[in-house]
Amino acid sequence: MTQHKPAGIKLRPGFPARLDLPRAGAVPVRPAPAQAQALAHARALYPAQGLGMDSSAVRRSMVAKLAQQGIEDAMVLQAMGSIERHRFVDTALVNQAYEDTSLPIGLGQTISKPGVVSRMLALLRLGNPGRMGRVLEVGTGCGYQAAVLSLLCNEVYSIERLRGLHDKARDNLRPLRLANVHLLFGDGMVGYAKGAPYAGIIAAAGGEAVPQAWIDQLAVGGRLVAPVSSGAASPARQALVVIDKTAQGLRQTVMEAVHFVPLKSGVA
Ligand code: SAH
Repeated sequence: MTQHKPAGIKLRPGFPARLDLPRAGAVPVRPAPAQAQALAHARALYPAQGLGMDSSAVRRSMVAKLAQQGIEDAMVLQAMGSIERHRFVDTALVNQAYEDTSLPIGLGQTISKPGVVSRMLALLRLGNPGRMGRVLEVGTGCGYQAAVLSLLCNEVYSIERLRGLHDKARDNLRPLRLANVHLLFGDGMVGYAKGAPYAGIIAAAGGEAVPQAWIDQLAVGGRLVAPVSSGAASPARQALVVIDKTAQGLRQTVMEAVHFVPLKSGVA
């Protein structure tokens, strides 16, 4: 058992997802045969029924795999099990929506794989069992991670530099009616000062350094998780970096290698 219970997440009426996951301690290490059967059944239904299918079985299977990969944070697992990832990808890709793979979302960008999304969210929350305060996400993309974040923190400020994706995220998120997600169009390299200070900052695109604006906008006691490129290698090598802002200063930890789209300045 983990020390924190899955949160009693309150969703607004009309939210279509169901929170019917088992408690964290009960998440099977390997998918049970019945679950594998349900997954195969759901996969068979997918092409025929498209977005209308009951996708909770495939999501449960995805969550079981995330737990197997070492994601222990019950609140993150529950949020990943609640948000319907297939709503965020093109119709032609829905049958891959619950595989641990990144997928194209248009304009040369990708939705991160569930394993990476859950890993970054677990890092963001590490040592902090409750719901977070305000979080800034740089790189809204299709809006998937913003939706997951909305179940983990009080307010999500998510900024995207490509107008086409900002609009797409708005369309994707509208039916979910997540009142605490604020979508912003702009250059996230300068952060979003109006929402600062943030308890957490999470970036879905990697630059050569963490912009000073992000550090400035992070609350004391807050944490930042971002992919950062290192060295002159081509293609650039990226690693996840965790920065804690404490009263005594910054503490940086470099984690595993990752592959994110580049952080770019300006809007388009
Ligand atoms: N979290 C997203 C992942 C999108 S990929 C999702 O769940 O779909 C990363 C996104 O970062 C891309 O859409 C890219 O356009 C955006 N991006 C890159 N540099 C940016 C910047 N400076 N400001 C805001 N968004 C940026």
